[in-house]
Amino acid sequence: ESKNKGRNTYTFFNTELAEYASSRLDTEIALRDALNNNEFELFYQPQICLKTCMVVGVEALLRWKRTGGQFVSPAVFIPLAEEINIISDITNWVMDTAAKQAVAWHDRLHMWVPIAVNLSGKDIHRDLPQRLKKVQYDNDIDPKTLVLEVTEGSIINNIDVAIETLEEVREQGYSVALDDFGTGFSSLHYLSKFPIDKLKIDKSFVDNIASSPKSAAVTAAIVQVGQCLELKIVAEGVEDLQQLQVLRAMGCNIAQGYYYSKPLPADDCLQFIEREKLANQPPSLDAM
Ligand code: C2E
Ligand code: MG
Ligand code: MG
Ligand code: MG
Repeated sequence: ESKNKGRNTYTFFNTELAEYASSRLDTEIALRDALNNNEFELFYQPQICLKTCMVVGVEALLRWKRTGGQFVSPAVFIPLAEEINIISDITNWVMDTAAKQAVAWHDRLHMWVPIAVNLSGKDIHRDLPQRLKKVQYDNDIDPKTLVLEVTEGSIINNIDVAIETLEEVREQGYSVALDDFGTGFSSLHYLSKFPIDKLKIDKSFVDNIASSPKSAAVTAAIVQVGQCLELKIVAEGVEDLQQLQVLRAMGCNIAQGYYYSKPLPADDCLQFIEREKLANQPPSLDAM
């Protein structure tokens, strides 16, 4: 009886494992074809200045819609794409698509909307400046329009090359944001060495900011350190007004989250920008 039970459990476990393995392989095969099959789309989430309440940029977030219509989360397919070494092709597509979007919006708004793209650790290598040059020349963009989001983990793993690479892309005119700050290594020593322009406070801090005085204290300290380093501070995952008010009182510069908007398809995002108005809007726009 107990022997049988054991065997059943074992069989069950094996089946689960086999199903997992086959779905992973299935996903992997589909992912290899996703670029060619045009299954990727960028969604854009607005970032709002807490002083002026105007849109100061957007973050491009990758969406994969598999044949059949099923959406797969980037949290699932990005690590897989890194593993099977197709991430640099995907990042090239993301950078190029964001650049094309910036041009399209420039035609409409007569302004460059800063678009942040997420880089993988594998992108932060010596060829990145050259890849960006290609994006710039292919699309004729102002480099100011692209912001590169990197995580602590992706810098720490090859710190010397990463720092040199990011310094070079900043000299080209791109800006760099440190994403998910507070979840990784988080050494203040490293923070002062990273060549970055913006610090994005991770959602996990923002989540508890209104309910936990300790979370609020840590977040306030992060904001202050960031300001001492002359970084713009962006709060991620802001979902309600209370969080927003606490962040504003702390001196946080920019907020991004469902409170304002979920990530949107490009056309919907343009509508949001037009409704909420873009910062530094030239007067000529009002006459249109
Ligand atoms: P991330 O760069 O930290 O992006 C923020 C994530 O938080 C996004 O999830 C966004 O949709 C979500 N988010 C924003 N505001 C809120 C909020 O108020 N509440 C909640 N619950 N969530 C919010 P998403 O789009 O699923 O992306 C997950 C992660 O996948 C990203 O985290 C980023 O690390 C990665 N990723 C997305 N697109 C790309 C890409 O093009 N390239 C690379 N390498 N990674 C990407
Ligand atoms: Mg990001
Ligand atoms: Mg983030
Ligand atoms: Mg995050």
